[in-house]
Amino acid sequence: MKIIMLGAPGAGKGTQAKMIADKYQIPHISTGDIFRANIKNGTELGMEAKKYMDQGLLVPDELTVKILLDRVAQPDCENGYVLDGFPRTIPQAEVLDKALVELGDAIDYAINVDVPDENIINRMSGRRACLSCGATYHIVHIPPKTEGVCDKCGQPLVLRDDDKPETVKNRLNVYHEQTQPLIDFYSAKGVLRTVDGTVDMQDVFNAIVEILKDAGNN
Ligand code: ADP
Ligand code: AMP
Repeated sequence: MKIIMLGAPGAGKGTQAKMIADKYQIPHISTGDIFRANIKNGTELGMEAKKYMDQGLLVPDELTVKILLDRVAQPDCENGYVLDGFPRTIPQAEVLDKALVELGDAIDYAINVDVPDENIINRMSGRRACLSCGATYHIVHIPPKTEGVCDKCGQPLVLRDDDKPETVKNRLNVYHEQTQPLIDFYSAKGVLRTVDGTVDMQDVFNAIVEILKDAGNN
């Protein structure tokens, strides 16, 4: 099962992708997490990506596509995966499509988590992330058990630099210009499904599970 999560920054793609990965035992692949891990480890890729991420801009396709294609070629991806934050541009989607066609394969579903812009700034300013294990929380909606500490690995939680309101506005503009066209791209392929992302995260997940059930996944 190969799934793409679509939606604005902060729509809940990562939250849902992790739940899907747990339930269906497939890897959750987040290009944002891969970049953040590289930044943390001080790699050349991380330093290059950071220049763009800090401004709320997209990392260039040349860098992003290679990382993603290498990742999905790993053995743990044989039975599928859930992509979170990739593709974010039409050229990225075309490269992924071509790579899959060459394998006689295709994306099963692109799930669009729909949240209006008005809700996004609040979501992002309340998001707290664990840069160690990638878990995310929300200070009001999905708080950790102990304030500021990751439930899963005990490391400190942070407000991501790119979640500050001024950067979020840029990220939303970038989303509307470069990523939203993917909704039409996957709709034309007949694999787009949209869920309301404004409801409780468990209800969002239930809606996604219903969609996947239709394709014979329990
Ligand atoms: P994305 O991966 O799309 O950028 P996240 O999954 O990190 O978004 O979610 C953004 C923020 O909103 C996080 O703080 C997360 O805990 C919170 N969140 C996710 N889903 C919901 C929801 N259904 N209701 C309220 N808050 C949510
Ligand atoms: P995310 O964790 O998905 O919110 O991504 C954080 C940031 O990483 C984005 O704002 C981009 O700067 C960068 N990024 C993540 N995925 C991609 C992608 N597929 N293409 C370009 N940039 C990306």
